[in-house]
Amino acid sequence: MSLLTLLPGAHNDILVMPRWPSKQVLVDELTWQKLQAAQASLPAHLGLLLTRAYEPAVTELGRARTVFRRMGIWLFGMLYPHRKDEIDDIFGSNGHDLDGTHIDVSITIHGRRVRLLPLSVFTPISWQARRIKKFNADLVLVQTALAAQGFQLHRNATESLQIHCDLKPVLQ
Ligand SMILES: [Zn+2]
Repeated sequence: MSLLTLLPGAHNDILVMPRWPSKQVLVDELTWQKLQAAQASLPAHLGLLLTRAYEPAVTELGRARTVFRRMGIWLFGMLYPHRKDEIDDIFGSNGHDLDGTHIDVSITIHGRRVRLLPLSVFTPISWQARRIKKFNADLVLVQTALAAQGFQLHRNATESLQIHCDLKPVLQ
C-alpha cells in the first residue's frame, strides 16, 4: 500500500482541507483513486472534500489528537450523560492511526461546504436531524456513490455525518 501526501487545495475535482492542526492529508493511493471515482459519479453540483486520513499516533499530530480526544470525552460526558455508550465510536481513532484507508469526507453543494456538524461531534442530535432532512437528497447521493466504490460508512450516526468511512478490503 502506498501513501500519498496531499496538501490543501483542489486535487483533480476533490478539495483537500486538512483538519486543524494538520497541514496535509496522508491517504492510501487506492483509497484516493476510489474517492475520485466516487466524485466522478456525482452530479456536477456535488463535491467531495477530504479532511482526514492517516494520522500516525507517534507524531506531534497524533499526540495532539490524543489530548483533544481526552478533553472531548470529558466535555461530551458533561453535555450528553445519556450518550456515554457512543464515546468509543465517536472518540476512538476509528482506524486513522492504522493506515490511509480510513477517511473523513465533507461535501460541497454548488461549491459551498455543507456543515453537517456545525458544532463538530458536539452537535445535538436534534440539529443533526434537521440538517439530515434539509440535505437528505444530496447526502443519499454521496453515500450511494461512496458505497458503490467499496466504502463503508461509520455505524454511529454522528460519525457517519462526519463523514467517516473505511475502504473495505477486497476479498480475493
Ligand atoms: Zn474519521
